[in-house]
Amino acid sequence: MKKSLLILMALTVIACHQQQAVVVPPVAAPLAERGALLSQQNVDATIYQNSSAEGARLFEQCYELAKLRLDQNLARPHDLPAAVIVDIDETVLDNSAYQVTNAAKGGNYTKESWNEWALMGAAKALPGAVEFLKYAVSRDCAVYYITNRATSEKNATIKNLFELGFPMADEAHVMTMEGDVSDKTDRRALVSKGHYVALLCGDQLTDFDQRFKDRSNELGLPTVKALHDTLSRYFVMMPNPMYGTWLDAAGGRVDSLKLERKAAFLQQRAY
Ligand SMILES: [Mg+2]
Repeated sequence: MKKSLLILMALTVIACHQQQAVVVPPVAAPLAERGALLSQQNVDATIYQNSSAEGARLFEQCYELAKLRLDQNLARPHDLPAAVIVDIDETVLDNSAYQVTNAAKGGNYTKESWNEWALMGAAKALPGAVEFLKYAVSRDCAVYYITNRATSEKNATIKNLFELGFPMADEAHVMTMEGDVSDKTDRRALVSKGHYVALLCGDQLTDFDQRFKDRSNELGLPTVKALHDTLSRYFVMMPNPMYGTWLDAAGGRVDSLKLERKAAFLQQRAY
């Protein structure tokens, strides 16, 4: 017994010694590994958006609020015919399957893989979206879909929306990105030229106002405060924990530096 205990102790000492000898080199991971790491970081957000009952209910709740706000705003005096403007991705269409596929493969967003997904036209409707927009039409509102999907993805997007039962999913009402101008201000202005825009819905604050693109001052929170009443009345914010301007503000846009920037961001905010 004593002898076996001694052997065990000796083995433990050797093992500890060997463990101490393992040195982790403090070098940055190669780009491909960093990509996989970044993808893993996004996994919980992706599962929430793709598979959680909480996420599904939250969308229903947003569209319940949208209906209330629409009723309130239609009761305000207006001369022009009414319209509702919605963003598409993560507002009416659910692209979490694309994110899930990336996460499963250990990959990240690329223009090419996104384009492939968009052309499939396989996105599902987010809970409450079709019903709300049908209700808007029943209240004599036009529906405009202002999206930063590329023009090359327009036909597939219209088909995707149409097959899911979204109203006014046609050439005139689906406004894709012209060139690489992601700023939606001009497209919103085109709609408001002939319409009273009674409500906007989006998963990014820039779906409401381009001023929210600038996050240099306290991550954009002062702008939210300054526009609080207008936002509350005319904009319904949808949840999207997977990507967005908020993430760019925290991690930077340069892929190879994202990990380091995120780590620094967290370190700054840790207590
Ligand atoms: Mg969106």
